[in-house]
Amino acid sequence: MGNVLIVVEANSDGSLRKATLNAIAAGQKLAAATGGQVHAIALAKNASALADAVKEYGVTVHAASGAHLEHPVAENWAPAIAATAQSISAEWVGAAATAIGRDVMPRVAAKLKAVMASDILGVEGSGADVSLTRPMWAGAVVATVKLSGSVKCFTARTTEFEAVAKAGGGEVKQIQPAPPAQALSKFVGFKEVKSARPALTEAKIVVSGGRGTKGDFKPIEGLADELGAAVGASRAVCDAGWQPNDLQVGQTGKVVAPSLYIAAGISGAIQHVAGMKGSKTIVAVNKDPDAPIFQIADYGLVADLFKALPELQAAVKAAK
Ligand SMILES: Cc1cc2nc3c(=O)[nH]c(=O)nc-3n(C[C@H](O)[C@H](O)[C@H](O)COP(=O)(O)OP(=O)(O)OC[C@H]3O[C@@H](n4cnc5c(N)ncnc54)[C@H](O)[C@@H]3O)c2cc1C
Repeated sequence: MGNVLIVVEANSDGSLRKATLNAIAAGQKLAAATGGQVHAIALAKNASALADAVKEYGVTVHAASGAHLEHPVAENWAPAIAATAQSISAEWVGAAATAIGRDVMPRVAAKLKAVMASDILGVEGSGADVSLTRPMWAGAVVATVKLSGSVKCFTARTTEFEAVAKAGGGEVKQIQPAPPAQALSKFVGFKEVKSARPALTEAKIVVSGGRGTKGDFKPIEGLADELGAAVGASRAVCDAGWQPNDLQVGQTGKVVAPSLYIAAGISGAIQHVAGMKGSKTIVAVNKDPDAPIFQIADYGLVADLFKALPELQAAVKAAK
């Protein structure tokens, strides 16, 4: 029976992080394909409130509380996750492909002597023939992989699995987590970038700027604020120090799939496209008519962003 265990993530205020609901959706697909049930594990100093929040989505939540679980330190979380996976005879153990999921899941896989597929995009087939799709070479190729062994681990790309809705039937089980690991690494601090704008990975609209901005993000930010959007950037911008790294969209940055993605002064390199091509509508503003971004854009404007974006901003304001 293909039971699935999903690792729960919390925001810095302790509330349930939406990415977990996408990971549960991936877990539901696997459970449906292999005839199992979806469980979740919430780890925190006191995991009760977080577990209660996850229970609302119709899954059995294992609440693991302990001072050593307060922060997502992989060395401390992995033993508790692996032990819980064994206790429910999980065939699949996974998390959202966030910074935390990417950090903790390989260690869980090693503890369980399991194979692992990272960044999965979908689930195909059923029973013993279940396979997973995942991107390779910056998303230029989508591979279909079949994992062997009795336990398999994964991280799921949040943009590819629609968040589950609330459902009945959930329950919380308190569990005794494994004791703290030998302190090979320890939590030092967490500095969150506070912004009045929506979070990049959760925003419905993203306005991103590239090297074409020459570091002047006023037109990007002006349009973003008029639209209530998040601000993104290409790696060229972040590498130049014009914008912080946490705004980077792409293969080595964040993967976003908003309803509307506006790329201004971005050429459309494959590594950038890997992080935003799942967007529902893509608008490109670039003064080079041959820029590759136009190949994937739904709407393209060959224009100088310093002229076009303020005009767009004024038009949005007038339309409100
Ligand atoms: C392993 C690896 C990983 C990478 N990961 C990422 C990643 O995660 N994210 C990412 O973005 N990149 C990534 N890159 C870098 C990527 O290859 C490109 O170098 C980068 O995306 C280019 O950024 P850009 O489009 O802003 O700059 P450029 O390629 O220099 O393009 C600038 C564009 O702006 C246009 N322009 C200039 N002035 C104006 C103006 N006034 N108005 C309108 N348009 C204008 C130009 O016509 C041009 O098309 C990675 C590369 C490697 C090798």
